[in-house]
Amino acid sequence: MAMIRRRSLSLYYIPLSIFAACLPIFVNCDDNLNRTSSTPINRDLYHSSGDLMEMIKNLVHRHPDKLSMETIEAGNKGYNAEIRVVTYCHRRKDSDDRSKIRILLSFGQHGRELITTELALRILSILSEEQFLPNTNPVSLNSTLDELVIKVVPMENLNGRKLVEEGDLCERRNGRGVDLNRNWSVDWGKKEKDYDPYEENPGTAPFSEPESQIMRKLALSFDPHIWVNVHSGMEALFMPYDHKNTTPDGLPSQRMRRLLEQLNKIHCQKRCMIGSGGGSVGYLAHGTATDYMFNVVRVPMSFTFELACVMHAHNFLH
Ligand SMILES: [Zn+2]
Repeated sequence: MAMIRRRSLSLYYIPLSIFAACLPIFVNCDDNLNRTSSTPINRDLYHSSGDLMEMIKNLVHRHPDKLSMETIEAGNKGYNAEIRVVTYCHRRKDSDDRSKIRILLSFGQHGRELITTELALRILSILSEEQFLPNTNPVSLNSTLDELVIKVVPMENLNGRKLVEEGDLCERRNGRGVDLNRNWSVDWGKKEKDYDPYEENPGTAPFSEPESQIMRKLALSFDPHIWVNVHSGMEALFMPYDHKNTTPDGLPSQRMRRLLEQLNKIHCQKRCMIGSGGGSVGYLAHGTATDYMFNVVRVPMSFTFELACVMHAHNFLH
């Protein structure tokens, strides 16, 4: 379990603010997909998955001092998946230094949420200093980055994303029809009255899906202090729980809420919905990654961030 040491909340705020500062860049992009549309993917807005992964691979090769990349594979009953993981550490040789703050970021868990992987690329470009954040002091940014190890999963659901790119524009599930954000073990399989198998199929058992198995293994071995599951469809910064209409008790929960309030005020002009996913979004979600990270992996700062574009948010689940 990753303990929050006696450090100021600002040390957690700053890395998240790097992230949040990137969010508004995408807020004004056009809705690109909807359930009945035959409109092709707008390539002015979104790279293909192949191009994105190639760009990320090249970025890693240009910055071997800071970035490294590994591929993790898994399979179950004839269905295989692979996930790329990029590790950022200011001085790469220190990436196993357990005194640093560990951050795990995942993008593209739902195939149709194309914009999230664009954000992953941008964040990696900023971390490698090929792009810069406006209004940020590079000296203080660098001294903060020196304290961090960040693992980025740019495209958690590559198989689902390929289905979208082949024309099934509203597919959010993985390559065999399972919602990867319902396949985790906390409150797994419970179905609400409005359960829609097209959208929310939780799989045959918790962690039936190779993608979820890989992510669980990664989280348990890395033991992050901060987890952010990045989705798109609304302007929201969520904390646990997704499966019930409350937030956890105690100090960690208060700290999460304070961080989200700060991020919302400074980077989102207070437009973002904040609070528990289950209490804010209008429906409960069972078997989600963020509830597992908080309850089981004991990640003290566990979040789901939602970017506001790509889809008509109010019609779709996150
Ligand atoms: Zn989503």
